[in-house]
Amino acid sequence: MRERGTPVNQEAPDDPALSRSAAEESAAQRDARFRRLTEAIPVQVWTALPDGKLDYVSDQTARYFGRTVEEVVGDGWLSILHPDDVPVTVERWTHSLQTGESYETEFRLLSQGAEEYRWHLARAVPLYGEDRRIVQWFGTNTDIHEKKQAEAYLEQARLREHESNVAKSRFMNMLSHELRTPLGAIGGYSELLSSGVRGTLTAAQKADVDRIYHNQQHMLNLVNDLLELARLEARQLTIDVKPVALDTLLHAVLPIVDPLLAAKGVQLTLQLESPGLWVAADAAKAQQILINLIGNAIKFSPRDSRILVGDGRAENVVCITVADQGCGIDSEELADIFEAFVQVGPARQREGGSGLGLTISRELARAMSGDLRVESVFGTGSTFILELPLAETPAAPAVGITA
Ligand code: ADP
Repeated sequence: MRERGTPVNQEAPDDPALSRSAAEESAAQRDARFRRLTEAIPVQVWTALPDGKLDYVSDQTARYFGRTVEEVVGDGWLSILHPDDVPVTVERWTHSLQTGESYETEFRLLSQGAEEYRWHLARAVPLYGEDRRIVQWFGTNTDIHEKKQAEAYLEQARLREHESNVAKSRFMNMLSHELRTPLGAIGGYSELLSSGVRGTLTAAQKADVDRIYHNQQHMLNLVNDLLELARLEARQLTIDVKPVALDTLLHAVLPIVDPLLAAKGVQLTLQLESPGLWVAADAAKAQQILINLIGNAIKFSPRDSRILVGDGRAENVVCITVADQGCGIDSEELADIFEAFVQVGPARQREGGSGLGLTISRELARAMSGDLRVESVFGTGSTFILELPLAETPAAPAVGITA
C-alpha cells in the first residue's frame, strides 16, 4: 500500500486511489517535499532553466559554499568555480543545453565556508515537457575531493617510480661500464700472467694470480647479478615468451651442470612423468633459473647424494621440481631465501655465493607469468618448484635451445 504523498509515476497509474492522491497533492506540496528531500540527501542538488541559469539550489548547498541561495542562483555559481575550470565547464554546460545530452563534468568549487577549492562531480539530466522541449534541468554536485587527491597522489607516485627507474638504469649503465671494464682487465691480465706468457711464475706466484682471478670472477658475477636484478626491477629486461618443449629445455641444461655434478660426486636423475609437455617461457631465462636451482642443489648437497629433477602438471601450470638430499632450510628462514643477499644455514660461512640467485630466479619466473617456490625439511633436503604456464603443443617445430 502506498502512503499518501508518495511520489507517483508520470504515466497514468492504474490504481484509482493512487491517481486520486496524485491529483490531490498540490504543486506547493510537491515543491515542499522536493525541497525537504534535497536538504536531507548528502549531495548538492540544483535545478536550472533551459537557458542554463540556476533557478534553485538547496539551502545546505549555498551554506556549504559560504553563500546565500540568492548569491548562487542565476549565474552566481560561476563565482565559486575555480577560475581554471571555468572555460571547460561553460563549454560542457553549453553543449548539454544545446543538445539535451546529459551533463557530466568535474570541477573545483570554493567550499567549506569559502576556505578551499574542492573537487566535485557535477551531473544533470533534462526534464522534457509535453511539447518535447526541455523545461528544466535537474543536477547534483558530489564532493569527490578525497578521490581526486588519491588519484593525484597515485599519479605522483607513478611518476616518482618512473623517475627513480630512469635514474637507477642510468646508474646501472654507469656501474656496468665503470666496474665491468676494469674487472675485465684484471681477469685478462691474471690469465695472461698465469699462462706464463710474461715469464714462468713460481708456484707461490701462480697461486696468488689464481686467487686474483678467482676473486675477479666472483666480483664479475656479483656485478652481473646486480645489473640483471636492477634491469628486472626496472622492467628493462626483454622476456621473449614462446612455446618451449619441456624435455628439450631440461636436456639442454644437463650438459651445463654435468661438470659441477662430477666435481661434487653428486648424481642427477631426470624423471619426466608427463612427457610431451610444452611451457610458455623464454627458453634462455628458464634455462638460467634451472641452472641456478640445480647449481644450488649441488652446492648444498653432500657427496654421493642424489638430485631428482621431475615434472608435474596442475591445470594450466607446469611444475618443474629440483629435489636434493642436502642440508635443507630451517622453516623459519624459508620465506627469506628469495630476498636479495639473504644466505641461510651453512651458506653463511661459505664463500662464493651472492644471495642474489634465487631473487633473480623468482623475478624471472614471475616475469614469465610463473613462480618459484620451495619446500624443505631442515637436515633432510629441499625441493624447489618452478612453475611455468602450460603452452599448447604447437604445430611448428620446437624452439631450438643450445646448451
Ligand atoms: P647463493 O646460492 O648465491 O648464496 P641464492 O639466492 O641462490 O644465493 O640462495 C640463497 C640462499 O638460499 C643460499 O645462500 C642458501 O642459504 C639457501 N639455499 C638455496 N638453495 C638451497 C638448497 N638447495 N639447499 C639449501 N639451502 C639453499
